[in-house]
Amino acid sequence: MDYEGFFEERLDALHQEGNYRTFADLARRRGGYPVAAHHEGGQVSEVLVWCSNDYLGQGQNPDVIAAMHKALDECGAGAGGTRNISGTNHYHVLLEQELASLHQRDAALLFTSGYVANVTALSTLGMGLPGCLIYSDALNHNSMIEGIRHSRANKRVFAHNDPEDLDRLMSADDPDAPKMVVFESVYSMDGDIAPLDEILSVCEKHNAISYLDEVHAVGMYGETGAGVAERDGVMDRVTVMQGTLAKGFGVVGGYIAASTALVDYIRSYGNGFIFTTSLPPAVAAGALTSVRNVRNSPELRERHQERAATLKAKLHRAGLPVMPSVSHIVPILVGDASLCKDASDALMTRFGIYVQPINYPTVARGTERLRLTPTPLHTDEMMDRLVDALTQIWADLALDKAA
Ligand code: PLP
Repeated sequence: MDYEGFFEERLDALHQEGNYRTFADLARRRGGYPVAAHHEGGQVSEVLVWCSNDYLGQGQNPDVIAAMHKALDECGAGAGGTRNISGTNHYHVLLEQELASLHQRDAALLFTSGYVANVTALSTLGMGLPGCLIYSDALNHNSMIEGIRHSRANKRVFAHNDPEDLDRLMSADDPDAPKMVVFESVYSMDGDIAPLDEILSVCEKHNAISYLDEVHAVGMYGETGAGVAERDGVMDRVTVMQGTLAKGFGVVGGYIAASTALVDYIRSYGNGFIFTTSLPPAVAAGALTSVRNVRNSPELRERHQERAATLKAKLHRAGLPVMPSVSHIVPILVGDASLCKDASDALMTRFGIYVQPINYPTVARGTERLRLTPTPLHTDEMMDRLVDALTQIWADLALDKAA
């Protein structure tokens, strides 16, 4: 086989569809967020970042950075092993205790990312529970789909955010079979939020494990930032809470929080937990400080929601096609892969504004979009600059104004 030819042909196909991905070469500036340096063709320019998932700016929080420096000086660079073989650092233990307490659970378990947490926990549960049936929301993130696939359990896909469809599917199955319902709270591309109470009631009716991904909600929703389940007063009804330390908490890493036995089971059988080096101690220390800060900062969450509402209002006033998000995520519909990339390129080259185009397979074809993520650090002036730039680009590219 002509291997190189095969790879080039597949890449050409992406180019032709307008779905070939290029990455902006950025250097974040400590203390300067959301401004970053952009490197291109030997030149460096300043850009205003509007698409980061460092939703609360915790990646730039001085306390978090100081905690990481301190741990780096105390412990050195790497963890030195897998959790089982000398790689359990005291910061990992403290962080797991903090996360268990945040979610009001007996125990929590750290992973190297939210992605690995989902793949490992779902594959381990789905594989281990005899004859397990897994019900997965139609818009679940790839990490959950992969975890379910690796489990080799039978999967049913229920209509997005639709408890009635879930109930219909579950009612048609063997009432005694072990069941697990896998869903998210905030869906990151549309910015909609799941009806947790209704979905959990269906889980309870069918005696199913509920597995809730709160990756785009932890730090940002609920009185102490434990997520939408906390906001909606249903946290004690969720079997497994899953989250990330990379977005609202601004560092990196993933976790689950659940009962002692369930967490111990994943710790003991989960390959993606067992067979990999644990997070560097400095990362765990930074995340620990971030979680503690964010838990005690309701004003950060209020400001975050206010910033999102203000941006949505400004975009609406300018007649731009804001998609109907009820969260901090602000998607603007373009509806074409090439035009979406053109709009993103124009923002960067003409206006020094960075918004990555969101194309297939991240979203369905025909729903390509620009996804804006206002943070507490985005000012009114930054918003006005963005809205003016988008207005000009929409006119120049003759883009549709209907969402
Ligand atoms: N779950 C969802 C819903 C996500 O959107 C993502 C990543 O964006 C992940 C899990 C993976 O989290 P992490 O970035 O920590 O690997």
